[in-house]
Amino acid sequence: MSDSIKIVFTGTGSGKSSLNRFHSSFLIRSDSYNLQIDAGDGISRALLRLGIGFNEIDGILITHFHPDHFSGLITLIQQMKLIKRQMPLDLFVSKGSINFIRELLMRSFLLEERLPFQLNLKRIETGKKTDFRGKFTITAIENSHLEKYRELGVKGLDLKSFSIAVTSGTGELYYSGDVGTSMDLAGLKFGNGAILVTETTHVTVEDIIGIIESNDLKKVILTHIDADDPSALITKITNLYPDGLNKFTVAHDGLMITV
Ligand SMILES: [Zn+2]
Ligand SMILES: [Zn+2]
Repeated sequence: MSDSIKIVFTGTGSGKSSLNRFHSSFLIRSDSYNLQIDAGDGISRALLRLGIGFNEIDGILITHFHPDHFSGLITLIQQMKLIKRQMPLDLFVSKGSINFIRELLMRSFLLEERLPFQLNLKRIETGKKTDFRGKFTITAIENSHLEKYRELGVKGLDLKSFSIAVTSGTGELYYSGDVGTSMDLAGLKFGNGAILVTETTHVTVEDIIGIIESNDLKKVILTHIDADDPSALITKITNLYPDGLNKFTVAHDGLMITV
């Protein structure tokens, strides 16, 4: 690997639907493989708005099965069917959700054998580095975001939820995914100069500043923003961490960065 990759924020909102932000997701763009991370409600329209063709997406990875991260998946696959996509599509989900996806497709009348393209359902392998055509790698790191359902005694559901590490030829990015506690963030093993993309709904700005102060991060990008107007968040960062705005970027839909 020698090249850089681009990250395009296709959505930066939280679980609350907003007129200004689609639900949190982003696209990892490289010369030869584009991977969409999460696909909440409205993802098809988010891609259209950014001029990203449905054929440009080679794979989709779902970090966990809360609606703001996966409920647009079926509509997106429908769009790919409607444009008569030919290229195969990889779909990465946790092992415990593969049968659910198969059933969801079938019950949505997106019969796999009648799709014009090959759908490759792949299991996310925790801790294993997966290479994408020599352009970047992904490592899935389990977090505790859905553990609360175990404590509630919920049975029979897939409680896997992932943070991910992305490595290109020129840099490294960590995406928190949705976390359970700040311990999930603190547990990430950042290399020097890494970029952190973190959600802001289940962690505090203080937690994030703590991570910055104990690691040599190049940049911190805040996403999964609860409010349409992030000025309160920005004020809090500048009050707590006067140099903060050099390090922090509050993401907006369409933001693109290089890794
Ligand atoms: Zn979420
Ligand atoms: Zn969630």
